[in-house]
Amino acid sequence: MTGKGTLNFKPSNLQSMRSIIFVLAACTFTFCSKAQNNNNQMKPEDTEVWEPVPKVVTPGTSTNTAPGDAIVLFDGTSLHQWEAEKGGAAGWEVKDGAMTVVKGAGGIKTKQTFEDFQLHIEWRTPAEVTGESQGRGNSGIFMMGLYELQVLDNYNNRTYSNGQAGSFYKQRIPLVNVCRKPGEWQTYDVIWTAPRFNADGSLKSPARATVLQNGVLVQNNVELDGPTLYIGKPAYKQHGPGPIALQDHGNPVSYRNIWIRTL
Ligand code: MG
Repeated sequence: MTGKGTLNFKPSNLQSMRSIIFVLAACTFTFCSKAQNNNNQMKPEDTEVWEPVPKVVTPGTSTNTAPGDAIVLFDGTSLHQWEAEKGGAAGWEVKDGAMTVVKGAGGIKTKQTFEDFQLHIEWRTPAEVTGESQGRGNSGIFMMGLYELQVLDNYNNRTYSNGQAGSFYKQRIPLVNVCRKPGEWQTYDVIWTAPRFNADGSLKSPARATVLQNGVLVQNNVELDGPTLYIGKPAYKQHGPGPIALQDHGNPVSYRNIWIRTL
């Protein structure tokens, strides 16, 4: 029996559906190509998304020590696993078991490169609150040196939702805002799947990430659109393994207890 409103998949209907799908796909392709070509005419605010605003959640308390099979990238004593992004020694301050951004020293990155991994990293924005929006406690953790998981003080500090702490910058809004107060240590646990590429360099599968901030899920197996861009729409270009990189955004953000498990 065929009820009212039920689709009849006759061969003629299937053919017209195929045509519709083809036209839609062609339109999408044309639109995407145009969007990428327009990047050089875009402004930073063109890719800011301000709604929806992630709900505020109070985190629990926990400790996170490195498991036996982890590579410890920073144990609080030395930057020997790190180097400056611009070359040479990592110029950040190491004190009291933490490393802190030195304004102007530039970003730092691990000497080792990674592909698929589980990363644990702890971060702290300055107790003394200065600036607002993106200017307050800004840093960032770049997976494979390319994909930024934002570090920002978003405790009572509004910014665009896709640029707040727990976001993949300008791409994925966090599920909730689970930020601790400025000056308190916070954690990220990231499960990262690198993008895969075909032999001809085209994208086979995008990068995927799950992120917990302070033990609370903020990114649930999300797909990324490509390496992080400040201006314009991201797009993939073939690349191999990359480092974990930490951003110098001019604010004295600190990091400690960094470990990684390769998968
Ligand atoms: Mg940042």
